[in-house]
Amino acid sequence: MPEIKKILMTKNAKKFFVRDTNQDVHTQYGYIKKEDLSKSKDGEKLKSNTGDDFTVFSPFFSDLYRKIKRNAQIIPLKDLCFIIAETGISGKSTLVDAGSGSGALACFLANIAKKVTTYDIREDFIEVVKSNIKFLELKNITIKNKDVYQSIDEKNVDLITLDVPEPWLALDSCSKSLKPGGFLVSYSPSVPQVADFVNAVRKRNDFIHTKTSEIIEREWEVEDRKVRPKSISIGHSGFMSIVRKF
Ligand code: SAH
Repeated sequence: MPEIKKILMTKNAKKFFVRDTNQDVHTQYGYIKKEDLSKSKDGEKLKSNTGDDFTVFSPFFSDLYRKIKRNAQIIPLKDLCFIIAETGISGKSTLVDAGSGSGALACFLANIAKKVTTYDIREDFIEVVKSNIKFLELKNITIKNKDVYQSIDEKNVDLITLDVPEPWLALDSCSKSLKPGGFLVSYSPSVPQVADFVNAVRKRNDFIHTKTSEIIEREWEVEDRKVRPKSISIGHSGFMSIVRKF
């Protein structure tokens, strides 16, 4: 059974996560009675004691994903799309990811791919990753408490994602692990890391750098005819460099 059983959504898209359907749910829009909740079906509308409407439904992966525990900075959704679209990974793909951090990237990719192995050197972070995997009910992730700069055990891998401070130190490990044509995506927050990584790739003859990009998302507010970019939006996250193994 999922840890989160149901979601209640208000008309203005506020979500309330229900862990126990046998208890009243209190919100700033009044409370929903446990009797109403326990006999409700997905898609039904429930009324709170103050008369506000809530729609009830079972959580999707994307609802749960937004609730995972975070210790390190996690990769934002806008950047995930880029990695998935550029590499075209699918249910047939085998992936390696390092470092795990909170496991956000590894978990999102595991929801699409056949198998993900994620590496991290910090045991305390691995505990958070384990709890996120359990929370998302993913069965196809393996965690390894190992240094990705030293080696990667998996062979014939389709994609390796790196989110580590010195990704150029992982190039030998990645070269031995990737299948010909396989993708390596390195995610780095700052410009000197990108320069050092791409320069290191170009000195070798086993990789080809195809592109480095930054994704900028601009969310808009739509309030009647007041339609304009939101004044607060996500700032800089990271640059992604794509490399292929030959
Ligand atoms: N992409 C992750 C965040 C990664 S944070 C997410 O979406 O949640 C960077 C992580 O890299 C940290 O947890 C750090 O412990 C790990 N790390 C640093 N150097 C490493 C190495 N040599 N091998 C494996 N993991 C490493």
